[in-house]
Amino acid sequence: MHELPVTKSILNICEEEVKKHGMEKVIAINIRVGELTGLVPASIEYYFDIIAKGTVAEGAKINTKKIPINIECKDCGESFECRKGVYNCINCSSHNIKITGGREFLIDTLEMD
Ligand SMILES: [Zn+2]
Repeated sequence: MHELPVTKSILNICEEEVKKHGMEKVIAINIRVGELTGLVPASIEYYFDIIAKGTVAEGAKINTKKIPINIECKDCGESFECRKGVYNCINCSSHNIKITGGREFLIDTLEMD
């Protein structure tokens, strides 16, 4: 369960951004979560509802977009999206691969009022 610290950092960013832009509140938060982070969007929303109470982000809606796992083959250079658990090249079947996407967690945009 590492959603709670992540959720707290989202809230911190909301408060900073609202202050920075002279706004009053956050209406919606668009986040992107890599599949390899293991973060559960529903848990983030659950924690957010609780810890955002009484803050500038109370009642804000969280929209989550998943980032798929991306793999690059070190042998043939092929780059592709991977299904969970399958880590060999779709082009040459090599296991000599590196993961280039899916570990990200980022806030895309904040909608403020
Ligand atoms: Zn390959």
